Amino acid sequence: MQKIGDHAVVLGASMGGLLAARVLADAYERVTVVDRDVLPEAGVPRKGVPQGRHAHALLPSGAQVLGDLFAGLLAGLAAAGVPVIDDFREMWFSVGGHLLCQDGKPDTPAYLASRPYLEGKVRGRVRALPNVRIKDRCEAAGLVTTRARDRVTGHVDIGCSDRARVAARHEAAGARVRAATASFLSRRRRSISMTRSARSA
Ligand SMILES: Cc1cc2nc3c(=O)[nH]c(=O)nc-3n(C[C@H](O)[C@H](O)[C@H](O)COP(=O)(O)OP(=O)(O)OC[C@H]3O[C@@H](n4cnc5c(N)ncnc54)[C@H](O)[C@@H]3O)c2cc1C
Repeated sequence: MQKIGDHAVVLGASMGGLLAARVLADAYERVTVVDRDVLPEAGVPRKGVPQGRHAHALLPSGAQVLGDLFAGLLAGLAAAGVPVIDDFREMWFSVGGHLLCQDGKPDTPAYLASRPYLEGKVRGRVRALPNVRIKDRCEAAGLVTTRARDRVTGHVDIGCSDRARVAARHEAAGARVRAATASFLSRRRRSISMTRSARSA
């Protein structure tokens, strides 16, 4: 595919970010994915994806997309023992006593991998792409836009792999907010007391 740009940056290395990076890798010379979490080597739950501990299913159309983007990924899941569902009667999922409908057979299978396991496998595949770099412990602190604010042109990136710098920047920002608040309150107090003295005069 013809490249349409030099460098694409993706914020967030979860499922959405990883799949975006995979697609952008075809269209950009290089792609950088940043995430504020420490990204584990193995597929274990992490702070930035708290829903990862809940039951998850990779439904048929999602599985098809992953299969198209990562050749052999689905076969690898099945070979590793992830349950593959060809008939919804094989799946028993009850929430608060309400059983998920078991009628029907999907045209293509669903996969019952845990959310962290699946993300770990996809992250491994994206990490292996030669023009993609995944940077963890890297927090995007804001977005840089055009003056019209109709297009994002970059992101403000603080403290990659450097928690102390992140904390210092947060502290400095907090101090600026505290100083501005104190100055506002003191101006307001002055104006209230001036109004009171004008009334009593
Ligand atoms: C209880 C529950 C059950 C679910 N079950 C299913 C299911 O069965 N099947 C299914 O397909 N989906 C399911 N989902 C939905 C699925 O979990 C989400 O759609 C999916 O995780 C969204 O992925 P995402 O990449 O868009 O965002 P997220 O997974 O929310 O990831 C966001 C990422 O961005 C990072 N980040 C955030 N802010 C910053 C920042 N400032 N700088 C740098 N990095 C940052 C975070 O660390 C994280 O890695 C379920 C969700 C819930 C809550």
